[in-house]
Amino acid sequence: MIRTRMAPSPTGNLHIGTARTTLFNWLFARKNKGEFLLRIEDTDLERSKPEYEKDVIDGLRWLGLGWDNKEIIRQSERLNIYEAYLKKLLSSSKAFWCDHTKEELEEESKKQRAKSKSPRHICSHKKEKRNSGQIIRLSVDENSDKKIRFQDVIRGKIEFEENLMGDFSLAKDLQTPLYNFAVVADDIDMEISHVIRGEDHISNTPKQLLIYEALGMNPPIFAHLPLILGADRSKMSKRHGETSINEYKKDYLPEVMINFMGFLGYTYGKEIISKEEMVQELELEKVHKSGAIFDAKKLNWINSQYIKKLSPQEFKNLANVPNLPNEAVSLVTERLEKLTDVSNFDYFWKSPDYDSELLKWKKFSLKDSKKSLEQVEKIVSSHNFKNKDEIRSKLDDLAKEIGDRGLVYWPFRVALTGRDKSPDPVDVAYVLGKEKTLERVRLALE
Ligand code: GLU
Repeated sequence: MIRTRMAPSPTGNLHIGTARTTLFNWLFARKNKGEFLLRIEDTDLERSKPEYEKDVIDGLRWLGLGWDNKEIIRQSERLNIYEAYLKKLLSSSKAFWCDHTKEELEEESKKQRAKSKSPRHICSHKKEKRNSGQIIRLSVDENSDKKIRFQDVIRGKIEFEENLMGDFSLAKDLQTPLYNFAVVADDIDMEISHVIRGEDHISNTPKQLLIYEALGMNPPIFAHLPLILGADRSKMSKRHGETSINEYKKDYLPEVMINFMGFLGYTYGKEIISKEEMVQELELEKVHKSGAIFDAKKLNWINSQYIKKLSPQEFKNLANVPNLPNEAVSLVTERLEKLTDVSNFDYFWKSPDYDSELLKWKKFSLKDSKKSLEQVEKIVSSHNFKNKDEIRSKLDDLAKEIGDRGLVYWPFRVALTGRDKSPDPVDVAYVLGKEKTLERVRLALE
């Protein structure tokens, strides 16, 4: 059975990288009719916080990336499992207690660096059987000429020298596992078949492979996703976007985030695609190797495409504008990239408030605007609001008479909307209806 997992550490909010990795794991599991599990890696007690766990879980739920484990799996609730694995490694002398002090370790790495060797601890007493010490380490052969190899689904063959690993740490004590060890214990226990995660974890993989070997277990298949880069090609950071997926909620549809994140490292056959369609298309081998650029413009464009397809009621609920008239919805959604920008169309549900100077058109005076609006008022009051072409041609005739189109349409627009940008004022007038249109034109005249 194919089984993937997402293993976020609740030491921060759900950011785009974690959400993207979750999506790929979710898609791959669905594609193979397997399972996708969520595990909270909260062994770092100082930095893990319940509010971050909540942010992660809320965000994944919003995105519709559900997991197949009924109860949330937390590392902090599995300490006995790690202890059992550690005891196994200690009793077979694959792991040992080490009590070199911090100072001794620093001294050692200083000497290694001086000889241009990569710093690692090679413990002098790893053959001794001890029952306690500062820390538990894996015993690694410093004279090995073996290579640690694995075939990454995305990146192909990857290898590391075993003798560069050193006797790396597994746990602070029997109940305090460290990252590399806890991940392996959990992935074995949860029978994970594929570990799909960010490229930043490649360097952890050889250590994890040595732990699998020491435990006599077969490792899973690894697939390392490309990093997400900002538009300037530097590593994605707070500067490039929101720090939590939940901050996208107010402006973007969850389907949009999924559509957008699907392309962070993959090219699907069409630009607007649902996660069900991605499930059909995704092939892990075709994930890109090079960094995926986070393009905020593309995100906005995808959002605008989804917004256009919403029904009036769906849109009004999502944008939280119950008072927007249904007839205005398409005028708004055709022009919207982000949901909160709906506030630029508030004249559809409340009277505009603007500075009268705005009624002035280019080189003309306020008086000129007034004269033109007086004619507009006459046209509107004699119009029955049944035929847009008819009122348009009357306004166009007026424009010809005055000799400037803007002098007719600009003050009319401002009177109705209080803004310098809006849909065609005739369209706006038809949504507002005759009464409100006249009211606003008259208010402008005053
Ligand atoms: N807790 C790790 C992280 O958040 C998970 C790494 C992994 O997937 O193995 O980066």
